[in-house]
Amino acid sequence: MNQCHDIEELISGYIDQELTQQKAQQVRRHIESCDSCKAVYEDLLAIRKEMGQLQYPECEEAKLNKIMNEPVAKTLGVVGWIMLIIGLVGFMGWQAFTFFTQPVVPTWAKIGVLLIELGALGLFLSVLRQRLIARKTDKYRNVKL
Ligand SMILES: [Zn+2]
Repeated sequence: MNQCHDIEELISGYIDQELTQQKAQQVRRHIESCDSCKAVYEDLLAIRKEMGQLQYPECEEAKLNKIMNEPVAKTLGVVGWIMLIIGLVGFMGWQAFTFFTQPVVPTWAKIGVLLIELGALGLFLSVLRQRLIARKTDKYRNVKL
């Protein structure tokens, strides 16, 4: 194909996303059907990647994701939640045992405290659930990228 020479000149611009939409589409279509230009494109892309010069619009987001998904940050997050849950359950158990067995405390006060605690527990569980769902969605989004 005579087109190859023209396309090869555009490949660099294509990788840097400097082409018009029309030209980019032209290059993309040609690369898909031409093995030698595809090889040129892939070589150039590999070089760019090695040099760390690839600038995607979602670069900052990807960086943030990387930081958030870092093993240390992830582990700290999980440990934090586990400590919070253990602490909350332990405290509420102790509090329930000492508070609800007090004969001096009137029943209406016990019921009131119980309602507050159940409400807080419900809110806490709903936040936890949202977090777990968000994590699943993140995973899905990462796969798509
Ligand atoms: Zn070609």
